[in-house]
Amino acid sequence: MQRRRRCKIIATLGPASNDEAAIERLWRAGADLFRINMSHADPAAMRERVAMIRAVEERVGRSIGVLVDLQGPKLRVGAFAGGGAAISAGDRFTFDSDPAPGDATRVCLPHPEILSSLRPGHKLLIDDGRLRLHVVEIAPETAPQKAVAVVDIGGIISNRKGVSLPDTDIPVAAMTPKDRIDLDAALETGVDWIALSFVQRGEDVAEVKKIADGRALVMAKIEKPQAIARLDEILAVADGLMVARGDLGVEMPLEKVPGLQKRITREARRYGRPVVVATQMLESMITAAAPTRAEVSDVATAVFEGADAIMLSAESASGRYPAEAVSMMNRIGEEVEREGVYRSIIAAQRAAPERTGADAVAIAARDMAETLDLKAIVAWTASGATALRVARERPRAPILALTPNRDTARRLTVVWGVKAVVTKDANDVDDMANRACKFAVRQGMAEKGERILIIAGVPFGTPGATNMLRLAFIGENDGFRAQ
Ligand code: PGA
Ligand code: MN
Repeated sequence: MQRRRRCKIIATLGPASNDEAAIERLWRAGADLFRINMSHADPAAMRERVAMIRAVEERVGRSIGVLVDLQGPKLRVGAFAGGGAAISAGDRFTFDSDPAPGDATRVCLPHPEILSSLRPGHKLLIDDGRLRLHVVEIAPETAPQKAVAVVDIGGIISNRKGVSLPDTDIPVAAMTPKDRIDLDAALETGVDWIALSFVQRGEDVAEVKKIADGRALVMAKIEKPQAIARLDEILAVADGLMVARGDLGVEMPLEKVPGLQKRITREARRYGRPVVVATQMLESMITAAAPTRAEVSDVATAVFEGADAIMLSAESASGRYPAEAVSMMNRIGEEVEREGVYRSIIAAQRAAPERTGADAVAIAARDMAETLDLKAIVAWTASGATALRVARERPRAPILALTPNRDTARRLTVVWGVKAVVTKDANDVDDMANRACKFAVRQGMAEKGERILIIAGVPFGTPGATNMLRLAFIGENDGFRAQ
């Protein structure tokens, strides 16, 4: 199966996609990598799923990426005497550190550091924002600690419902003890990407990167206003970003999410970091065989923004139509990319290069490929960095990454326009050109008589030294003739 789509598809695995056959169906329908959400999995379940993905990878003969998504510090209220309580607008309601079951006047908020960070005026959003309160009084010095709030939007507040605090800088580590255990397990299992939830600052990401120590790349999920405020700082350390619209839409007014999505994707593209647009993309397909017009439009918007990948959550994890949802996304992606205005929209969002050899080569490659109608840009790359910088240019020609490193090939599955193939390092420049031609033909990108462009860092194995551009002509026997 030849894939031409540039924008990649991530499918979240779950009960609806929990065996090898189901995973293979999702891959064949167009999923390029898979997400395992640790909010709903333990290390044993994660390992099992990774093993299934690796088995599918082996069978289909293509690199498949694995993204493990850490739950992060999701805050929850404690339990209630009757399982829940009704609170109404105007009521006073107290959050405190007393573990006794709650009632219509109070409940435990079992996070002392949060209680002491709340200030009058701060909003508390309960149960994905269904209930809203704001703090009017704090008494952090008393025992039990407490914060008194007034209800703005009432409803039933029940056991262990999630709490979002859009106004409060939360002094907790980005990783909970569970996250730490999950992270270690994921790194030992050899996954390709780690996603970190509820990132607030660059340090949160730096901490995970330090632990990962190159064993996996780290994606920062942007789902809090604090992260928006420090986007530059986060982009400087993160290997990729996710526009996590689920929680972002709870913590920020919903009407701000589309603009933020544009800002985040634009900034990530400027840095050359892969960016994923996630959550509720084809939400109605959890229960219906076809999406709504608005959902199709939403997916298309992300593709027009030049997102590296679009993601399915419950649609593929627990919905009734997992393969249909992937297939729908695939069709939307292909159709948008065929649309006449697509190229000009993508080109208009391109950012200025950095003054490095790699960027100069990447721009030259895009330019030459366009001028000469070259069929592929083949990048020899050990770390994947060369391929990433070329992808940042969003060239018209497909990018074929040739790498001796299996992890690099898997990590690149999330990157716009890159198809990665594992092959041993080239012996010399002729071998490099020869095999580039062979693989381009084998991948269905070019035919005899057509031309491709090859870029690399010579001598091989010097990271960050992209310094060579070579035009090659596909000759007899898929060999090449230099031009
Ligand atoms: P989640 O993250 O699915 O882990 O909550 C994505 C989001 O919040 O959009
Ligand atoms: Mn989230």
